[in-house]
This record gives sequence, C-alpha cells and structure tokens, in this order.
Amino acid sequence: MTQDLENTAYALPLEPPAGDHIVRATAHDGLVRAFAARTTDTCREMVRIHGLSPVAAAALGRLATGVQIMSQDLKNPDDRITAIVRGDGSLRGLTVTCGPDAMVRGYAWEPVVETTYRSAGKLDVGSAVGHGTLTVIRDSGRGEPYIGRVELVSGEIGDDLAAYYANSEQVPSAVGLGVRMDGGGILHAGGFLVQLMPDAGEALAEWMQERMAGFPDVTWLLNEGFGPRQILDLLMGDPDIRYLGEVPCGFRCDCSRERMSRNLATLGDEDLHDLMSEPEGAELTCHFCGQRYHFFREDLQAIFDHARDRTGQDQP
Ligand code: ZN
Repeated sequence: MTQDLENTAYALPLEPPAGDHIVRATAHDGLVRAFAARTTDTCREMVRIHGLSPVAAAALGRLATGVQIMSQDLKNPDDRITAIVRGDGSLRGLTVTCGPDAMVRGYAWEPVVETTYRSAGKLDVGSAVGHGTLTVIRDSGRGEPYIGRVELVSGEIGDDLAAYYANSEQVPSAVGLGVRMDGGGILHAGGFLVQLMPDAGEALAEWMQERMAGFPDVTWLLNEGFGPRQILDLLMGDPDIRYLGEVPCGFRCDCSRERMSRNLATLGDEDLHDLMSEPEGAELTCHFCGQRYHFFREDLQAIFDHARDRTGQDQP
C-alpha cells in the first residue's frame, strides 16, 4: 500500500499540547497493539538533574521513554522494570528503572560526552553507546526476578529494545524513540511501541512492516503538533482503532534517607570502617536524582549497630 501521510496527517484533529503521557491502543481486530508517549518533560528533568550533554540526553531520554512504555505491562504496584545498557563507547552505560505508574528515574554513566552526528542534525547515539548488551529486569519484589539480556543491535536504543522483545520475549515488535534538541535544550521527546499478537498473519505483519518503514520520526510528528493519540492513529492505519487508556508519565526518584540507611546497613565491615574513619561522617549521593544525604559518625555507628543486632552478629 502507498503511504499517503502528506494528505492524511493534516486531516487529523490536532489536540492542544498536554503534559507527558502514554496512550495505549489495539487495532486490526486486536492483532496489533501499540503504545505512544510524549516524554518531553521527563527528558528535560533528567537534563536538569544530571547536566547531560546532547548525546547523553538523547541516549538516556530514549531509554527512559522506552522503559516508561514497557512499564505499562507491569501488573502490581510493587513491580519494577529496569533496563541497563552497557557499551564500550564513551557513554559506558545507562541505567533506567520504572514502576507501573510510569514514573521513571535513570542516569547516564558518563553524563557528558563528545557531541557527534550520524548525519545532519542526527546525534550519533549508537557510537557513544558502542557495542555491548541490553539487560532488562522485571522484578515483582517476590521470588526471582525475570532477567533478559541481548546484544546491542545498533546502540541507537529503539532497535535494541525491539531486539530484546523479539529475542527475549518472542514478540515481534517495532520501537521508535526520539529526543529532539536545539541549543536551548530539549524541544520534543517521545516514542512508540508496536507489537504483533501471536495470531497476526504474514500479510498483516508485512503490511505493518511496510508502514513502519515509511513512518516519520516521532519528534517530527510531535513538532507538527501531533500527540500520542494521533501518532497511534497514523501508525495503525485502522479506522476501527480502539484506545484503551491514557496515563500520565514523568520523572520521579523515590530515594530517601531511610532507603540510604538500609543500603548502608548492607555494607561489609571494611567499607563501614572506611566511612567511619572520616571525622565529618559520610555524604552519599543518589545516582538517580543527585540528592545528597549526610550521615554523621554517630548516625553511621547507630546504623551498623542496628544491622548487627538484626543479623545476630557479635559486636567487634
Ligand atoms: Zn534519588
């Protein structure tokens, strides 16, 4: 089929720009399901917190967007999905984690890297990530977490998440993720995930593939005034598309002094003694949001005494 986007695109009703959100839909008699998200504010917040250079902002923003969408498959309030990219490029890696409420947090292992371009205006995320792996952990807080790992396809993140779905979960998927910037910061960010259900036939698979191949960048569509709902409409090309829900998404770190104390309590004796040897105590920084927590020596002593009491160990 021919892709007459020029004519269909502008005929759609445009909704006024709203905050970050994810829309979910099914189409083609339930044989295709899809999600689309606007994540501009999420990405701006990560740039603000971490002082990310453009390539780091694009890489982290794409992964965060993908994980926010993936979080919509989580069932219980305590469930978490975590994605870790490890590469041999200048970025070294990315860590992102999200609960079912689509509130994500994450960081780039190297927040500032050289700005290089793949082509005019296209940041070279793939080279900054390099060769490596993508690990996805689904943890319900009970029992063993489900862990899937794939080799990075391109390091451009979208392709890598699609490869994860195809290889690790055996679900044919297309993922489009984008972060558009200018000198002043992030202009638009968003993404989509399209998946074929097991009963989708060859013909539908081919038709969707063709449609994907001609599909414009998500950030171009956002820039033209399309919201996630209109992006899904365009993607699916089905007048009987069914919208199943729309949820807000964003950035939030759930670190606290109490959580930091719990982490400290799990340290080995040698690390504890190192921390306690400092007269001013220890300052710990949350990787995800940059929040600092100061612990005086007496605080540290109390945490360790408490931990020992609980594990029944002898006092040194
Ligand atoms: Zn934090």
